[in-house]
Amino acid sequence: AGAAPKPVTREELGRATWVFLHTLAAQFPERPTRQQQRDARAVVDALTRIYPCADCARHFNDIVRADPPTVATGREFQAWMCRAHNAVNRSLGKPVFNCELAAARWAPLDCADDDGRSGCDLAVGAEVA
Ligand code: FAD
Repeated sequence: AGAAPKPVTREELGRATWVFLHTLAAQFPERPTRQQQRDARAVVDALTRIYPCADCARHFNDIVRADPPTVATGREFQAWMCRAHNAVNRSLGKPVFNCELAAARWAPLDCADDDGRSGCDLAVGAEVA
């Protein structure tokens, strides 16, 4: 009989999810394929329904309906993610983050292989077309 699992708090879940979302945006290609644009919208859309805190999901749904994700370029998606996070921050009485600093806070994943080639870069639209 193992110990009972330690439940994750709403704050821990939020911080982990923002790491995922801002890193996803930082890694998003400047020239995404249509599939990548659909996928980015789908990830956000799914969170408005199955983010594992129902109140947060409902609340996030209002934010996304008022300001749908912009996914035409990496820069746009990064800016949208910062705006969406700030909308959550405002509603929780947290400080608003300066989106000019988002690129300094969130970077693409560091996963250069031994040969120096990045194994994390997503395919770029121009190369896949
Ligand atoms: P977090 O808000 O988790 O931020 C983590 C780090 O991100 C910060 O330390 C800062 O370095 C950076 N950051 C902050 N703002 C921005 C920004 N705009 N752009 C880029 N980087 C930024 N909690 C609730 O109680 N009620 C809710 O309704 C709710 N809804 C949520 C909806 C979603 C989709 C998510 C992902 C989380 C939600 N949360 C909600 C959790 C909440 O947003 C926080 O994650 C949690 O309160 C912990 O806050 P924190 O102060 O540690 O920093």
